[in-house]
Amino acid sequence: MQISNTPTPSDTHNVFERAAKLWMPKRVVFTPDALDEPFGRKIRERVEEYKLPVEILKNNRLTGLRGETERETYKLSKSTLAIVNASPSAFRLRPIPPSADFQFHLAEGCPAHCQYCYLAGSLQGPPTIRVFANLPLILKNTQNYRLPGKTTSFEASCYTDPLGIEHLTCSLAETIKFFSNQPEKHLRFVTKFDAVDPLLDIDHNGRSRWRISLNANVVSRRLEGGTATVNARIKALRKLALPRSEGGGNYPIGVVLAPIMPVANWQEEYSLLFDELQQNLDFPVDLTFELITHRFTPGSKEVLLDWYPNTSLEMDEAGRAVKRNKFGGLKYVYSADTMKEMKHFFYQQINKRFPDGKILYWT
Ligand code: SF4
Repeated sequence: MQISNTPTPSDTHNVFERAAKLWMPKRVVFTPDALDEPFGRKIRERVEEYKLPVEILKNNRLTGLRGETERETYKLSKSTLAIVNASPSAFRLRPIPPSADFQFHLAEGCPAHCQYCYLAGSLQGPPTIRVFANLPLILKNTQNYRLPGKTTSFEASCYTDPLGIEHLTCSLAETIKFFSNQPEKHLRFVTKFDAVDPLLDIDHNGRSRWRISLNANVVSRRLEGGTATVNARIKALRKLALPRSEGGGNYPIGVVLAPIMPVANWQEEYSLLFDELQQNLDFPVDLTFELITHRFTPGSKEVLLDWYPNTSLEMDEAGRAVKRNKFGGLKYVYSADTMKEMKHFFYQQINKRFPDGKILYWT
């Protein structure tokens, strides 16, 4: 079942400004351990307020997520919210270059349906949305990680889109509040959703950078299911950055342009995106850019073709260059010439239109 946000007049008149529907799972399961946690019990109250049926499992193992085919497993999993405790391995934080010094997770899995999804091949098993009830302990654990002599950054959205499930979890609000009084620490996360209003008033102390993932409309409309439209995301970004006196959140913000693809007329298509961004960020703003071109691995391609057998996503190895990592794993990226041409275009556009914006990396 899906219910929509209350429509605003612009939502009803302009399909391209449509807010994302709030995701409502068909099945919500709690493990006994998760319900021992006060944070888990709060999620239960919230889920029950939405009148979603709640199942309490007999033990801490999730079952019943496999269908007859991979596609069925995908459908079952993507409509299931599981509230569990993160395992002990979640307390050993790993770096996540070039994005941040460390990553930690509020949840694993995402309710959207992007046909290039980054989670394919990086998360094992059915793509159920698992939310961690022991979040307060996960947050406390970040205090054990600090790099000497510099602000230590933490990325919270490697395995989930935290805003896509926030109405049910409030995990992101909890995390922003926690980081607001962590000296020399900085929180980062990214989303393709737009329901930012409940998070605008949080006293974040400038320690959380919201990033919104954007793409040319032609790419987003074709490949990003269940997310907010690009236009609605840009409006959300504006609200996040506006000063409090103008009803905004006064957050530092960022744009993650991903996955960049050399689709037909890509310069024009991405110029339109920059036009819209420029029109909406017409005030002084602390803004970063991260530029990520499309890539895939043999493993991610296999998973994506199971999930989206009719996808129009281009994943033709013959047209790609191979990039190997130090462990021998390989990924398929665009050719050096295409990369050079695209990089030049994106740097030029950003430097011209957002002279105070900071490009963090191109990959
Ligand atoms: S929003 Fe991100 S995590 Fe969610 S489906 Fe899309 S690519 Fe995957």
